Amino acid sequence: MKYIFVTGGVMSSVGKGVSTASIGRILQSRGYRVQLVKCDMYVNIDAGTMRPTEHGEVFVGEDGIEADQDLGNYERFTDITTTRDNYITTGQVYQSIIERERNLEFAGANVEVVPDIPNEIIRRINIAARKGKAEVVIIEIGGTVGEYQNILFLEAIRMMKLKHPEDVALVLVSYLPIPKSVGEMKTKPTQYAARSLNAAGLQADFILCRAERPIDAPRRRKLAINCGLEEWAIISASDVESIYEIPINFERENLSDKLLKKLFLKPRERDLKNWQKLARRIRGAAEPLKIGIVGKYFGTGDFTLADSYISVIESIRHAAAALGRRPEITWLNSEAYEKDRRALKELDNFQGIIVPGGFGSRGIEGKIRAIQYAREKKIPYFGLCYGMQLAAVEFARNVCGLKDAHTTEINPKTRYPVIHLMPEQLKHLARKLYGATMRLGAYPAKLEKDSLVAKAYGVTRVSERHRHRYEFNNDYRARFEKKGMRFSGTSPDGELVEIIELKDHPFFVGVQFHPEFKSRPLAPHPLFLAFAKAASTKRQKD
Ligand code: GLN
Repeated sequence: MKYIFVTGGVMSSVGKGVSTASIGRILQSRGYRVQLVKCDMYVNIDAGTMRPTEHGEVFVGEDGIEADQDLGNYERFTDITTTRDNYITTGQVYQSIIERERNLEFAGANVEVVPDIPNEIIRRINIAARKGKAEVVIIEIGGTVGEYQNILFLEAIRMMKLKHPEDVALVLVSYLPIPKSVGEMKTKPTQYAARSLNAAGLQADFILCRAERPIDAPRRRKLAINCGLEEWAIISASDVESIYEIPINFERENLSDKLLKKLFLKPRERDLKNWQKLARRIRGAAEPLKIGIVGKYFGTGDFTLADSYISVIESIRHAAAALGRRPEITWLNSEAYEKDRRALKELDNFQGIIVPGGFGSRGIEGKIRAIQYAREKKIPYFGLCYGMQLAAVEFARNVCGLKDAHTTEINPKTRYPVIHLMPEQLKHLARKLYGATMRLGAYPAKLEKDSLVAKAYGVTRVSERHRHRYEFNNDYRARFEKKGMRFSGTSPDGELVEIIELKDHPFFVGVQFHPEFKSRPLAPHPLFLAFAKAASTKRQKD
């Protein structure tokens, strides 16, 4: 088994996850089976309890793991199906060590932070390694080197490298700023990052230089000398228009050859053709596809965190690419529609509207108004999870005449609880069990023949990933149906509503699940594709 560790230098959010995923893709393109693992430094057991504005999207795996959004990048780039084995947090590591200690499994020995914690990290990495008969495991360490929090993960790498020097490669993904006032690319912060690794007993084998521009020869030389590497191990990784160009760019630097050589693996034939075709299609798309996403998780101070909905955004991009369109995605703050209904007019500028998943009451009336607008003005609408539930609330209020209908998540006393808590969730909440207790992961659904969604999927049996506590209240099905709502997807026993759609509308679909987790650049999700198709035929006002 071979291991590639990816650590970050200088600052976060420079595309370490995408770089890790791209390394996975280029090794696959050389015929190697890979697994990818994300190590998060947080004491949280999983990402399910973390705020998306701080930590980014919660990505849900097939088995219901609520993971870091980088697992989404791994799935999109490499097509592997991630599960809880692909996600390690400090919390999980300590939890299992403490459990074993309580069970007397250490047989009286002192349980020590070193080596017991790094050993547990290594044990978990090897569990992932055995999955799918991987030949190479790529492990991304969250955060940046030099942070107090990830030192035990670095210690795990050090222990592994010591034992198997020929089987472990270490990649540092670093950032090289070009300060405006200077106009020159600076290498010093990266040199410090490489030294921080040295201080942890590690030497980077490769440095991926993330920067606005490609690194030039003098700076390459400088970095090589100061960080103790050969020049060929300094890899240029400048900004790209589409992240799907990155594997191709890495191969321009022959990164897969270099990694294989470092790990004493034989080079096999290279095949990146599909990927190259995709990149060309994305580059060539000129006609825009204007999609508005209405939600609340937008501002953190002066900055906008698109990360909260990264899978939704990528799914739109995949569908647009397949149609040869250039996606123009705009985030719309639903609270604006609460202050002033006239603000809704801006929705006319979009060819399609999405209300994505969410929780809580902030901005909710604005979302409901936006959905009403999309329904009445026949703007293609796609509701994901909360976006489906709120579409049901809107329909109840404005079409069925059930005044003040609501989801009991927001108004537990509503006269018309069209969305209510799933029975098993009552027990969880009564016991204050919040972590990993939602309806999570893959569940099957059956689709009604001749429905819009069955046509889009091309089948009547599907499996999709979920993350919710509330569901459609079946007491209201008949009333909704009478008014033109179709329950075109349900759980196989027919009990749980999975999909709603409207008849007299170009595209009005709400899904209780999260299709965005299964969309791939080379295989867009059928519902996103159908939505994008409907959107692309909507006439635009300029
Ligand atoms: N808040 C809703 C629920 O718990 C929707 C969840 C979501 O959108 N992921 O059911």
